[in-house]
Amino acid sequence: SKYTKKDIIRMVDEEDVEFIRLQFTDIFGTLKNVAITASQLEKALNNQCMFDGSAIEGFVRIEESDMYLHPDLDTFTIFPWRPQQGKVARIICDVYCTDQTPFEGDPRYILKKVIAEAAEMGYTFNVGPECEFFLFHTDDDGQPTTISHEKAGYFDLGPVDLGENARRDMVLTLEDMGFEIEASHHEVAPAQHEIDFKYDEALITADNIMTFKLAVKTIAKRHGLFASFMPKPKHGIAGSGMHVNMSLFKDGKNIFVDEKDKLGLSREAYYFIGGIMKHMKGMTAITNPLVNSYKRMVPGFEAPIFIAWSATNRSPLIRIPASRGESTRVELRSPDPAANPYLVLAICLAAGLDGIRGKIEPPEDVHENVFSMGEAERERLGIEALPQDLEAAVEELEKDEFVKNVLGTHITEKYITAKRADWTAYRSQVTQWEIDEYLYKI
Ligand code: GLN
Ligand code: MG
Ligand code: MG
Ligand code: MG
Repeated sequence: SKYTKKDIIRMVDEEDVEFIRLQFTDIFGTLKNVAITASQLEKALNNQCMFDGSAIEGFVRIEESDMYLHPDLDTFTIFPWRPQQGKVARIICDVYCTDQTPFEGDPRYILKKVIAEAAEMGYTFNVGPECEFFLFHTDDDGQPTTISHEKAGYFDLGPVDLGENARRDMVLTLEDMGFEIEASHHEVAPAQHEIDFKYDEALITADNIMTFKLAVKTIAKRHGLFASFMPKPKHGIAGSGMHVNMSLFKDGKNIFVDEKDKLGLSREAYYFIGGIMKHMKGMTAITNPLVNSYKRMVPGFEAPIFIAWSATNRSPLIRIPASRGESTRVELRSPDPAANPYLVLAICLAAGLDGIRGKIEPPEDVHENVFSMGEAERERLGIEALPQDLEAAVEELEKDEFVKNVLGTHITEKYITAKRADWTAYRSQVTQWEIDEYLYKI
């Protein structure tokens, strides 16, 4: 590993770090933290920092609420946006129970478990995400709105791109924190942006996604803007996705490559795709966790709806980007940025490994646009649709024993209960659409 306890203590001292935030992520993908001062650092580094888990949604019952944070030393980072004197740093932690066993409800632990399985097969799972988000104005009370006066579109630049300065600042801040930013650009919808950072091993990437969102929100605020990762903040324009680009490495080599194959893909790559497609319906409640997630997956906005794959066009769920050699990868296009990145990567890897173990052949790849095919044509090709709302997705999750097993009983139960409650709350709402559509007619 990168740092020892001594290194951390030295850095905190030398850099004049006053506060250290001990971070972890709850089941629903929300970043949590408890701040300590440098005086408590040694205790924290010895895994002695305790917190009350009963107050965290989806964690534990009152009677077993003491939990411990075990800092992952390599994740030590100083926040560049805090004062330069009396700095603030963070360390990402694993959550442990009082008996010093890993807590089953810690999504980082779930991902680590699947990564260990992959390691046993000799694989390293590399993932590069593409996070999209909106930059909106706040109102006079500082509350976020969905208002933006921006009119820019895909790859546009200033002066129409009003987020340009904020985005530039985000990129520089992330670079300060050790991210390698590969690209950043205006996305299709007005006020929508994308920043892509370099792929890394799955655990690092999941940590990076959490850090990314925090940095983007923090810098947006500095520019008087509000950054939202909500999947579909506005009807009629594109929503925000979080495509994940995945590959497996063995002995430092990308094993998805096979130059002799007609698409340049190895058997493992095909099976990996086969595994994901097999479990896709059951995985969707995780990749698309909100009622709102399903408003993104409608025709016309480059978001997937059908379970198909292609090496030649972008309309399906899974795409093989054109680059080959070491950057050969499988791009899953359904996840959105509201998803818990630890759980998303855990189930993607698990499903892919299931494909490899079971030699699951994926169906034929499609060459035409799946959206312009008629239903009969899709049926003939055996192309099914993703679950169309959160309720359907939860039902699919309940049916997929494999996915539930990856998540473990604790997370599966808490997750399903919470998502059902969301659905029930949503279902009883009377929307503006209904008023506009029915009030005057009936
Ligand atoms: N915003 C689109 C989505 O919802 C993706 C657009 C793109 O990156 N080509 O997934
Ligand atoms: Mg992109
Ligand atoms: Mg994009
Ligand atoms: Mg993409």
